[in-house]
Amino acid sequence: MHVARPHVDESPTDPDIAAVLFDRDTIAARVKSLAQRIADDWRAYTEAEHHAADLTLVPILTGSFIFVADLIRCLPMRLQIRLLSISSYPGPATTSRGPQVQAGLGNLPASLEGAHLLLVDDILDSGRTLAMAVDLLRQRRPASLRTAVLLRKDRPEARAFPVDYVCFDIPDVFVAGYGLDYNDYYRNLPDIVTLRPEVFSPSAPHENAPC
Ligand code: 5GP
Ligand code: MG
Repeated sequence: MHVARPHVDESPTDPDIAAVLFDRDTIAARVKSLAQRIADDWRAYTEAEHHAADLTLVPILTGSFIFVADLIRCLPMRLQIRLLSISSYPGPATTSRGPQVQAGLGNLPASLEGAHLLLVDDILDSGRTLAMAVDLLRQRRPASLRTAVLLRKDRPEARAFPVDYVCFDIPDVFVAGYGLDYNDYYRNLPDIVTLRPEVFSPSAPHENAPC
């Protein structure tokens, strides 16, 4: 059966892009090799422990949803997903307002005793989001806890924060696309990009426009 490849026309948000940091093919290749490392480490870990365990991924919503969707399809082990929703950039903010757990979203159980967790976030910036998430998870008494991020910014707090897996190191700039937003837009861009300065000005035409 012939399946037509969908043709994606230019998007109305394309003119807002200043530069492409990583294109979709580069992202796909790096996600695949990161998954390979996670799978190799997991195999070594479970062999050393002499037991067949399941892995539980805990993606932090919303920004990591595309990353985690691609990542899990490259992971071969038995795994489950528990969602955690934390937001630090409400609306049009481009600097962190401090991480807040979004009540009612996510499906984190009160106990994760004995679980082997892999916490997944989109970007490591100040480290406050991951620190809060690690705390929340440790309170639930998992057997093990590792962390993975798609992006890590080049700033001292991010470099000092211990993470097990990093897909890309990036300069200290605001990025969007591949799940990351500005004002909840641009998540659908397939590449990781920087945005033109006009986008951040209050008179930007589509800001706060209805979807
Ligand atoms: P941190 O708590 O490490 O300062 O920030 C992490 C969170 O802030 C990320 O999960 C992400 O949601 C958001 N964030 C940090 N930097 C950026 C950025 O450059 N672009 C976008 N879209 N979100 C960011
Ligand atoms: Mg986030």
